Amino acid sequence: MMSVESFAERRATRKIIIELEKVSKVYVTPGGQEYWALRGVDLKIYENDFISIMGPSGHGKTTLLNMIGLLDRPTEGKVLIDGIDTSLLNDYELSRIRNLKIGFVFQQFNLVNRMNILENIELPLIIRGFPRHDRIKMVINALKKVGGDESWLHKRPGQLSSGQQQRVAIARAIVGNPEVILADEPTGNLDTASSKVVIETFKNLNRLGKTVIIVTHAREVASCTNNIYLIRDGRIVGEAKPSVEDCVLNFEGV
Ligand code: ADP
Ligand code: MG
Repeated sequence: MMSVESFAERRATRKIIIELEKVSKVYVTPGGQEYWALRGVDLKIYENDFISIMGPSGHGKTTLLNMIGLLDRPTEGKVLIDGIDTSLLNDYELSRIRNLKIGFVFQQFNLVNRMNILENIELPLIIRGFPRHDRIKMVINALKKVGGDESWLHKRPGQLSSGQQQRVAIARAIVGNPEVILADEPTGNLDTASSKVVIETFKNLNRLGKTVIIVTHAREVASCTNNIYLIRDGRIVGEAKPSVEDCVLNFEGV
């Protein structure tokens, strides 16, 4: 008989990839006013987590994702990646770790319209200096993982539906094989059917071992992750662990 482990027990055996310790972020407005977008956030991201961050607009979700993704540095507190204190790293070292370990997905897809799908997905590989032959294999592999089709490769983003474009953007995020995928309101521009496909894509990537963190307004999206953090006024004010039955998106037939 297989034993049924609780989520907490499963998590306890996995390693921590990213850890935030009392992270605060102050923005200074052009008028010289300080604004505390994050206020002392403690957060541990374990390998193979599938997390969502929920909260109203303007409450610090994107700022938090930028801290987790090493896109910006905290004003106070520490961000550790694989136990390394990132405040000890220079910008070059930080961007190298980011490029290797983290893939980003955005609400607006951020695909380049004058490039075809192949060129869009291979961009991060060109930056990292992979030869063309390897790039094509890696692009096709990434496209398969998001349920895409090779027939898309020579199309422009505008020739695909919005749901398909977001899957291309996810393929671009995973093509360099990062451990962690960060998505900022990835279904914010999508209808329900496309949202389902995109969330199912993230679910599949999580099954394949990726750590996935999604910022979302949508309860039905958050309910399909394993762990929801609620953010208010720059603080994490609550945590919920939905069960499989709580996932209100019905993936059948998608
Ligand atoms: P969310 O993603 O939850 O909508 P953000 O993290 O984008 O929230 O922003 C949190 C707060 O910080 C908001 O009040 C926003 O106006 C402010 N803010 C975000 N980025 C900047 C910036 N670069 N300069 C000044 N204020 C900012
Ligand atoms: Mg935001």
